[in-house]
Amino acid sequence: MIGITVLGSTGSIGASTLDVIRRHPDRYRLIAISANSDVERMRAQCVEWQPRFAVMSDAGAAERLRGELRQVAPDVEILSGAEGLIRVAALDEVQYVMAAIVGAAGLLPTLAAARAGKRVLLANKEALVMSGRLFMDAVRQHGAELLPIDSEHNAIFQCMPPDFHAGLEQSGVRHILLTASGGPFRSTPLAELEQVTPDQACAHPNWVMGRKISVDSATMMNKGLEVIEACWLFNARPDQIEVVIHPQSVIHSLVQYADGSVLAQLGNPDMRTPIAHALAWPSRMDSGVAPLDLFQIARLDFERPDLVRFPCLKLAWEALRAGGTATTVLNAANEVAVAAFLAREIPFTGIARIVADALGGVALNAGDTLDQVLAADAAARAFAATAARRWAA
Ligand code: NAD
Ligand code: MG
Repeated sequence: MIGITVLGSTGSIGASTLDVIRRHPDRYRLIAISANSDVERMRAQCVEWQPRFAVMSDAGAAERLRGELRQVAPDVEILSGAEGLIRVAALDEVQYVMAAIVGAAGLLPTLAAARAGKRVLLANKEALVMSGRLFMDAVRQHGAELLPIDSEHNAIFQCMPPDFHAGLEQSGVRHILLTASGGPFRSTPLAELEQVTPDQACAHPNWVMGRKISVDSATMMNKGLEVIEACWLFNARPDQIEVVIHPQSVIHSLVQYADGSVLAQLGNPDMRTPIAHALAWPSRMDSGVAPLDLFQIARLDFERPDLVRFPCLKLAWEALRAGGTATTVLNAANEVAVAAFLAREIPFTGIARIVADALGGVALNAGDTLDQVLAADAAARAFAATAARRWAA
């Protein structure tokens, strides 16, 4: 039996992960789960799974959960805060850690899993964007296994030659083609973007996801974060990555080789495929995903991204090229700006403005230590929060 911790078990990726694990009770045992503050859903998960540990980041929520579980699941030990998350990410009886907390809050527990040499199933792309070098160094130094859950990166991983760590050119790879749906506003008239609502931004045409990543998909900041993620995961230079808009979300990404071959991974847009792939790798197992019906899909379309429509994608490329903590600042300012948009404090188009201002206004450093990364993250958050408040006033 393989012991698993699911960080962010109450979210969209968390729920899909439990759905896959539920299909294979003979292979996996759920040891620990975590959530921010959703006591209701956590209670239901504890009753069903009877894990050894449940972590609520919020201390008040942990106390409420303790009261709720006294009768129905008295053996579940309830922890709280960042220390609780770090502890369950590094337990001896856990071999695999699903990192599915959204945002920078996932960094420390995900890093703890890497430092404990676990198989890390990485959905939390923000951890890599804010501290790619530190994170990849920890994976190497502690012999962790890093398997991408982001559908595009999981697709690329599946299409890569086994020796890609040696360098893309040496292993015959020319380009990584990262596909993007273009989100709900791919063809909305530009003048209307100022007025779009959070619910419109979260109505993704192909994927059902948490609200933060849904807004990121609508601005295409998500694709920008994914370009940065791909550079770290696959040891790629920015010029080796190209973003391709593919509205059907059937091809999840492609790898182009020196001999002219292009390998792609296709499938229905359902995160249970990459989750099952990363759990079972290097073998394969059932995920519950319906088989792809090419006759029903009938056609596949491709377009170049429009950087005027999607300034966040351009900002991400710029931050990636600037290096150091520029991507930390990009990520932190974006998290604050997206939260302000979801709270209806700033317009949709304000997200890119705030991120651009933060990249120009926050001092950058090399980002070689965790302290440097966390300082850049905090400075960018403070900068973006002030900018958002100014907007609201
Ligand atoms: P979600 O909002 O549905 O779930 C987030 C989870 O993180 C919840 O369990 C929540 O309780 C927990 N959480 C939130 N804030 C927290 C905090 N401050 N401290 C501790 N825990 C906290 O998000 P999601 O859509 O499942 O996405 C999770 C991660 O996976 C994100 O990084 C996202 O970019 C990535 N991802 C998601 C998808 C998808 O299809 N949903 C696809 C690719 C990548
Ligand atoms: Mg993705």
